[in-house]
Amino acid sequence: MCGIVGYLGDRPALPLLLEGLKRLEYRGYDSAGVCVRRPDGLSTCREVGKVAALEARVGKDLASFAGTEGIAHTRWATHGVPAERNAHPHRDDKSRISLVHNGIIENYQTIKTALESKGCKFESETDTEVLAMLVGELYEGDLEKAVQAALREITGAYAIAVMSVDEPGVMVVARKGSPLMVGIGLNEFVIASDPSAIVAHTQQAFALEDFTVCRLTRDGYRTSNLHNIPVTPKLMELEMKLEEIELGEFPHFMLKEIFEQPKALRNTLSGRVDMERGEIFLGGLQQIGRKLTHAKRIVFTGQGTAWHAALVAEYMMEELARIPCEVQYGSEFRYRNPIVEDHTVLVAISQSGETADTLAALEEAKQRGALTLGIVNVVGSSIARATDAGVYLRVGPEIGVASTKAFIGQVAVSAMLALYAGRRRHLSIEATGSLLTELDAIPDKIRQVTDQSEHIKSIVAKYVDLNNWLFLGRGYNYPVALEGALKIKEISYIHAEGMPAAEMKHGPIALIHDGMPCVFVAPMGSQHDKVIGNMQEVRARGGRVIVIASEGDTEIESHADEIIRVPACPEVFSPMVTTVALQLMAYHAAVLRGHDVDKPRNLAKSVTVE
Ligand code: GLU
Repeated sequence: MCGIVGYLGDRPALPLLLEGLKRLEYRGYDSAGVCVRRPDGLSTCREVGKVAALEARVGKDLASFAGTEGIAHTRWATHGVPAERNAHPHRDDKSRISLVHNGIIENYQTIKTALESKGCKFESETDTEVLAMLVGELYEGDLEKAVQAALREITGAYAIAVMSVDEPGVMVVARKGSPLMVGIGLNEFVIASDPSAIVAHTQQAFALEDFTVCRLTRDGYRTSNLHNIPVTPKLMELEMKLEEIELGEFPHFMLKEIFEQPKALRNTLSGRVDMERGEIFLGGLQQIGRKLTHAKRIVFTGQGTAWHAALVAEYMMEELARIPCEVQYGSEFRYRNPIVEDHTVLVAISQSGETADTLAALEEAKQRGALTLGIVNVVGSSIARATDAGVYLRVGPEIGVASTKAFIGQVAVSAMLALYAGRRRHLSIEATGSLLTELDAIPDKIRQVTDQSEHIKSIVAKYVDLNNWLFLGRGYNYPVALEGALKIKEISYIHAEGMPAAEMKHGPIALIHDGMPCVFVAPMGSQHDKVIGNMQEVRARGGRVIVIASEGDTEIESHADEIIRVPACPEVFSPMVTTVALQLMAYHAAVLRGHDVDKPRNLAKSVTVE
C-alpha cells in the first residue's frame, strides 16, 4: 500500500526515482510525487493519477529536477481524496522539510491541533502533512534528531523518507509497521518499500526493523532507535531477478502470473515432498514440528484471497490431520478478546507478509501464548520475522494486484502442512505417498486449464455485460466460489457473490432472474449430486448455469449452459485447479470491459494499513 523510493548517490536521481515508482505502482496509484535536491533547494512535483502522469509533468521542467538525491511516492489515499494537495511529498511550514510516508499516523488530529495553535498552516487533509510539520517544528539543524523526536510523539504505522533543504547529502528514513528496505550500492543508496525497486541497482540490502531510523550519506549509513541508541541491521542478498518483475511477452502481470502457476507451484513443492517415503520436508518447521502435530486447535488467519486460502486450509487440516481448525479474519480476531487456549497454533497467511490486519492478529495470538506460523511469499517480511516458524510460498514476486499464484502457493503449502501433521498423527506412508503423488501432478493439471484461456474468454464474452453474478460450490469448492467472486469484483467491477451452493436457497435465490450468470464450481466429488440439484434450482428460475466440471463428467451436460472442463484430481487438491479457471474468467471479463487489470480501481497490493 503506497510505494516509497529514495535515491542518494552520484547518478541523476529523477529517472531512477520514476523507474522505481513504476515498479512499485502496484502498491498504490491514485497520485504520485517526487522531490529532487538542486544545488539551491528542493524541487517538488506532484500529480493526480498514475506515475506516467507525474512523469509527463516533470518532463516539462527537467532542468529543475537535475539532482542526484531525491525521494518519491505513489499514493493509496487513506486521509484525503486523491488530489495534488494531498499527494506526497509533504513539507513543513517553512518548506525546509520534504517527506514521503506510507501508513497512518493515528494521533495526527491531536498533533495537528497543537501545531495549528502554534500557527502552522496546513494545505492538505492528510495525516502525513502533520508529520512533515512536526519534523519541521522540531528541526534544529539535525534531521536525524528531528525525525527521532517527531516519531517519539506519534502513534500509528509509518515508513518514511525525509530530506531537509539545510542538509545536502543527508537522507533520513524510518519505519514502524510499514515496510522499508535500504539497498546498498557503490557510493549510493536506493531505498524502497520493496525490493522490486532496488534489484536493478544492487543486491545488497537490509530491511529496517520497527522503530528504527537510518541516516544515509554518500559515505555510509547509521541506524539507531528513536532514542538514538545504535542498532545493527541484518544485511541480506536480494534474490529477486529482474525478469521476474517484468512483463515479458504478456499484456498484464495478472495474465503472466496466471500462466506462471505451473512453474510457481513446482517451485513451492520442489525438494519438499518425497512420494516414496510419504514424507514432507519443511525446513521452517524443524523446531516446532511436534507442537504443530500435537496442536489442540489451529486458527488460520488472513484477509481477502489469503482468507479464502485459509478456508481451504481448514478443510484440509481437518480432513488429513484431524485437528480442529477455525478461520478468522485477522481484523476481527485482533479486537474480539479471542480465546487462545494451551496448544493453540495460529497460522498467518499473507502474500506480502505485511498485511497489517493479519500482523495485528498474529501479535495478539502471540501475546496470549499461541505458537505462531507464517505462510508468506515475501522473504524477510514482517510476518515472516514475527512468527515462531513458517513456510515460504516460493512462487516468485506477485505484481498483479489481484492475487493469483500466491493463492495457489498458499493452498499448496497448507496441503503440505496438513499432510505433514496427518502423517505424524494417523496417515500411513502409503496414503501420504499417494496423496503426494497426486499433489505433484497438480502443476500439469493447472497447465491444462490455462491452455483453455481462449475458450473461457469466449464464454465470458456472452455474459460480460451483466452486472450481477453468483459463484457457488460445496465443500472444497465453496472457498473457490468465494475466490472466484472476489476476483471478478476486484478487476471487472461486476457485482458478484460467492457462497456455499446450499446457502443459495436460504435467501440469495431471490436475486436470480432471467439470464443471470451463476457459476458452479462442480468437479467430480462427494457432493456432486447435491450441487446438480442446486443447478436445477437456478435454471428453473431462468438463471444461466456456467459449470467448472471434471473431464469425463457427461452427466453435467444436460444441466449446464456452459462448461469449462478441468482435469480430475482428488477433491482435497481441486481448489488449485478449479480456481485457475475462475482467475481466467475474471481476467477476460475485466479486459473485455476495458479495465486496467493490473491497477484496479481503489485497490492496491500489500495492505499495510488496518
Ligand atoms: N496516510 C497517508 C495518506 O493518506 C499515506 C497513505 C499511503 O500509504 O499511501 O496520504
